[in-house]
Amino acid sequence: MKVYKNFDANASHTLLSEVKESIAKFNLDFLNPSAVHQSGQKAKAIIEEARYNLASLMQLSAKQRIVFTSGASEANNQAIFYAAKQSGEFSPLSSAIEHPSVLEALKNFPGTKYLLPDYTAEHVLANVSEQTNFLSLMFANNETGYILPITEIFAAVKQKHPEILLHTDAVQALGKLSVDFSGLQADFITVSGHKIGALSGIGALVVNDDLAHQPLIYGGPQEQRWRAGTENVLGIYTFGVAAKVWQQKQAEKQQKMLVLRDNFEKAIHQAFPEAIINHQDKKRLPNTSSIYLPGILADDLVVAMDLKGFAISSGAACSSGKPLPSHVLLAMGHSEEYAKSTVRVSFEENTTASELDSLINGLCYVLGSS
Ligand code: PLP
Repeated sequence: MKVYKNFDANASHTLLSEVKESIAKFNLDFLNPSAVHQSGQKAKAIIEEARYNLASLMQLSAKQRIVFTSGASEANNQAIFYAAKQSGEFSPLSSAIEHPSVLEALKNFPGTKYLLPDYTAEHVLANVSEQTNFLSLMFANNETGYILPITEIFAAVKQKHPEILLHTDAVQALGKLSVDFSGLQADFITVSGHKIGALSGIGALVVNDDLAHQPLIYGGPQEQRWRAGTENVLGIYTFGVAAKVWQQKQAEKQQKMLVLRDNFEKAIHQAFPEAIINHQDKKRLPNTSSIYLPGILADDLVVAMDLKGFAISSGAACSSGKPLPSHVLLAMGHSEEYAKSTVRVSFEENTTASELDSLINGLCYVLGSS
């Protein structure tokens, strides 16, 4: 059977081997943690252990509460609709490079203002107005890997405007960057399980404990009344296992990804001198390369590479079967042609040097370079 290799880790990290093993060992038939009997309490204990593991990976303080959700999309929506319900007139400030789960939710609020790609604390502060009552900025961009200076931005905004609710989508930062999230003056932080090798369909919103609960999904009192519905016990369990593995091996994993990315980019520059790596001059995630290849249709390249056994991504959103150019690259000021000729390669730490060589050879073969 042909080996298939994931170079699209920012879409979904391959399930960690530790997670697969722990699923095989998972020995719980009764999955309602709200039940008072022993079986229910076992499920509850599993959830609390996972909460502890995730809090440890994120270095959360006692004032930061983890609310498990169905994924980061729900967590982003929860933060936005929470802020909207708290405000008389909702005036959010966000960025044009956010994930669709932020941008689409904000479309409900026509008064939203979007920052274009200058994300220094000074620029953000200059765009905060008297009306602004919510700021949502991602920690690191999923397409180019660009890392925003969120810690400085939030500190500056909180100091001058303590009443503004601050939210960051930290999905791509979790694990790939060692962040002390207790030092971030955020009211809400979004993370997702499948980006670190847990099951998909599980995420979390970290909420500042000072905030009164106001759920997006109403019903039972689960998740300290922040999110009704019987918890996804197996998903949460895998998130906890993955968080523990990342906490123990974070530095080693980050270094491995960085070496892979840098070797890959060197090889790409050699084989395709006209290629441009997006955001190469900025602080970037250690695992992400967004590459403009002039004259190439990214969607065709993705299909050709898929047939050769490599998963890469065009970074473009697909709506009703019609690929759209990446909103992130357009927001950065690039043309549609540029966006449609850009591919994203995002590495996972378990990739070997010979798998990387195969990827480079595959790209050279498909693109006709020697
Ligand atoms: N935010 C970012 C930055 C992402 O990359 C993703 C996933 O692609 C999401 C949010 C949505 O995550 P989930 O699949 O858990 O809803």
